[in-house]
Amino acid sequence: MLRIVNEDPSSPIEYSFEIQSILIRRESPFQEILVVETAALGRVMLLDGAIQYCTRDEFFYHEMAAHPALHTHPSPRRVAIIGGGDGGTLREVLKHKEVEHVTVVEIDEAILEVAKEYLPGAREAFADARVGVEIKDGAEFVQIPGNSFDLMIVDAGDYVGFARSLLTEDFFRSAANLLTDKGLLVTQSGSLHFHRSTVIEIQNVLAQVFPKVDLYTTTLPTLPGNWWTYSIGSKGPSPRKPLRNPIPDCRYYDAGTHEHAFLPETLYIHLRDGKLDW
Ligand code: SAM
Repeated sequence: MLRIVNEDPSSPIEYSFEIQSILIRRESPFQEILVVETAALGRVMLLDGAIQYCTRDEFFYHEMAAHPALHTHPSPRRVAIIGGGDGGTLREVLKHKEVEHVTVVEIDEAILEVAKEYLPGAREAFADARVGVEIKDGAEFVQIPGNSFDLMIVDAGDYVGFARSLLTEDFFRSAANLLTDKGLLVTQSGSLHFHRSTVIEIQNVLAQVFPKVDLYTTTLPTLPGNWWTYSIGSKGPSPRKPLRNPIPDCRYYDAGTHEHAFLPETLYIHLRDGKLDW
């Protein structure tokens, strides 16, 4: 019985899980990419030893990365995904027929190649005629003038190493400058249990840039800390109030999930004020 350990440098726990086979191990200029087959978690992709994607629960993460903001915007036409080379968030964005173009900005081309080969749905998503791919650092991309988006989704995994360039006020301010007047930005912000200082850091930086900032969550059994958060900044609509009826073909997201994903107001205020003592 072969077991591997999930080694997430940003979390205080490690855990191991049984694998049936190794499908690919590839060293890119940015990270080690490992894709394994397991009985319990389905197909799993690890980057530098940390789980990033499991077919068993990825839809919780990707549906919630995409749909709350896509349903909050009155007519999302142009979307940018920073990171997200595994194609999961892209698959969800493409479910919206209003979306006319999606730009995926991925720093590591090897992720795209591995995803198309080994991760279900990735090849089809990237083949959609509405999709354009930029192989570059998202922090550089947002400095390029002339682009305009209704929604930007930052799906760049743990904020360590080269992903930290997506955590700065300069990045969020440059990103906001590319958003239309009702535009929104969503970024995954880690676990409320294990990454609370990062959650607060991102919330405070977003509050310097956007008139409305909020936090919502999902459950992720395979990411350490489980209670996963998304920080959302809005130039217009209130993220808690979807403006459009939920699209039908989601496994987890619907109007109820949208409503209950947001932290209760009191808890959110205590979080922002640094008053949570757990
Ligand atoms: N969708 C994943 C999940 O389910 O948790 C999130 C992780 S995804 C694999 C993270 C992606 O972001 C990786 O492909 C990584 O190469 C990319 N990435 C990290 N930092 C980046 C940056 N600064 N610019 C563009 N892409 C970046």
